[in-house]
Amino acid sequence: MIQIKTLEEIEIMRESALVVSKTLGMLAKEVKPGVTTLQLDKLAEDFIRSEGAIPGFLGLYDFPNTLCMSPNAQVVHGFPTNEPLVEGDIISIDCGAFKNNFYGDHAYTFEVGEVAPDTKKLLEVTKQSLYEGIKELKAGNRVGDVGFAIQNYAEKHGYGVVRELVGHGLGRKMHEDPEMPNYGKRGRGKKLINGMVVAIEPMINMGTHKINQLKDGWTILTRDGKPSAHFEHDVAIVDGRPELLSTFQYIYDALGIVSNEEDTFRA
Ligand code: MG
Ligand code: MG
Repeated sequence: MIQIKTLEEIEIMRESALVVSKTLGMLAKEVKPGVTTLQLDKLAEDFIRSEGAIPGFLGLYDFPNTLCMSPNAQVVHGFPTNEPLVEGDIISIDCGAFKNNFYGDHAYTFEVGEVAPDTKKLLEVTKQSLYEGIKELKAGNRVGDVGFAIQNYAEKHGYGVVRELVGHGLGRKMHEDPEMPNYGKRGRGKKLINGMVVAIEPMINMGTHKINQLKDGWTILTRDGKPSAHFEHDVAIVDGRPELLSTFQYIYDALGIVSNEEDTFRA
């Protein structure tokens, strides 16, 4: 059942999302060659707790860490490790926080030093596919309209859209109804209405959409070993329109990036 949120609850959720946004902004300065993902995980856990929140993934379905850390050909759900990042890597960092009984959950794929131009393009297209999906998150539209927009944009660039993992409703639980696939058909699926809050999170592969799961039961990898990117925002439907609860602005401030990509999705 879809849990519709009041405007008050949406404001509380904005705070939870903001904890994650600030955590990712803090990490943006730390992502560089030589750092290990376990070091970043520790920084994130301390930061989230200092914000009066609890790491949202730690212990969830028995996940042992604060962050999902998925470098290069890993799609999502990778574990932090003692392996240092190297120049040219990409690292998808997915972060959750629980505060005032609500979850925030969003993700960003970072470049480690200078990355190859085709990898850079994968990141740009994946992030834009997220915004193409968010544009369709309007009251009266359907879940399939969002998925279609993401898939259409990514596939136009020749990329593979992961099928097995999807976005989701967000609230008092990390994963609520409805599922928000990153593929779909226009006009199909559940109807979108005011008060819905969802995490939209395209996982886009440079090559095939097909994936494998490691025997650890978590880590998802591209089947062809090519890179994969993951960007995720928390979005509410307010007054019929999509409104971002999360923001990448802290990341951009840390990296000196100027962007107006979020402007149309502000309150
Ligand atoms: Mg996430
Ligand atoms: Mg999510």
